[in-house]
Amino acid sequence: MEQLRAGMHYPRSVGEFQSWFRTEGDCLEYLEWLRWRDGFKCTACGHEQSWRLGDGRFMCARCNSRSSVTAGTIFDRTRTPLTVWLTACWHFATGKDGISALTLQRTLEIGSYQTAWAMLHRLRSVLVRPGRDRLVGIVEVDETYIGGQEPGLRGGRACGKKTLTGVAVEVREPIGYGRCRMSPLADASAASLGAFVTDHVEPGSKVITDGWKGYAGLGELGYVHDPRSQRAARAKREDPGKLLPGVHRVASLAKRWLLGTHQGAPDDAHLPSYLNEFTFRFNRRRSRSRGMVFYRVLELAVAHEPVRYKDLVSNPRPRTTPPQPPGTYGHPPSLDRPLVSRPWRNSR
Ligand SMILES: [Zn+2]
Repeated sequence: MEQLRAGMHYPRSVGEFQSWFRTEGDCLEYLEWLRWRDGFKCTACGHEQSWRLGDGRFMCARCNSRSSVTAGTIFDRTRTPLTVWLTACWHFATGKDGISALTLQRTLEIGSYQTAWAMLHRLRSVLVRPGRDRLVGIVEVDETYIGGQEPGLRGGRACGKKTLTGVAVEVREPIGYGRCRMSPLADASAASLGAFVTDHVEPGSKVITDGWKGYAGLGELGYVHDPRSQRAARAKREDPGKLLPGVHRVASLAKRWLLGTHQGAPDDAHLPSYLNEFTFRFNRRRSRSRGMVFYRVLELAVAHEPVRYKDLVSNPRPRTTPPQPPGTYGHPPSLDRPLVSRPWRNSR
């Protein structure tokens, strides 16, 4: 894959972001470049030649069907200007902890809270790629309750129900942690925990758990199981709470993030998408360029099929069909590119 460069493929600062994306046209061109890196391809018939129409859309030279760069993506039929979308994406991607719907609505003066909420959920829905690599090496696994009553919170938010959540994190030697995964569990049975581990951890890895019998079958599932007994730790006068420091660190960061950025726990139905966002952030915590994270989110967004509002409300589970990779589209050969005034226009 080509090397991405700051200031060339993605903005390296907020100032650069603002100068690149002043108008709808600027945003459209960037999305075209992201989606059709190797040339336009008609979504109806696959033909690669097209004409640009006056309204910025493309008309297939063979079947005459019209398409826009946002059609078939998460920006499909949006009534929100792309300048607002890209600014939202910039805050979402470059903020250390992301952004809440309320802050987004106020910052960008978006008409309704509902619109801001749905924008953020659409961005969240692109973050997970099915079939992505499972965790490897040494992995700590535990389960914890997330959500529900939190100390210091009053009112409606304080009485939600806690959700049992599986947590897995790679342990790096000699010190530190790698990537994490989090996912709600039906219960703490061997069946649920076994499914969580096989979904998220590569067989052959060493899996460290506590002494709970629900983990007893991990050896048969192809893992090197290392159960650590709390009773044994107590007998050796070690702190039993420190048997699994990695998962406890990840779980407490996630809880603090939900409480801080999102003012408490989201409802049961939407918890999985918040956990996905947290995981995405945690796994990129050492990314040196936040602008590159912005690029990655937009790249996933133009490769992701539309997410309807009713699906966000009624079916909050993350989608399972793989998104189309951007490389399968193309760029219209008939399209005259404007003179270069943005660096990325010159870098295909
Ligand atoms: Zn066509």
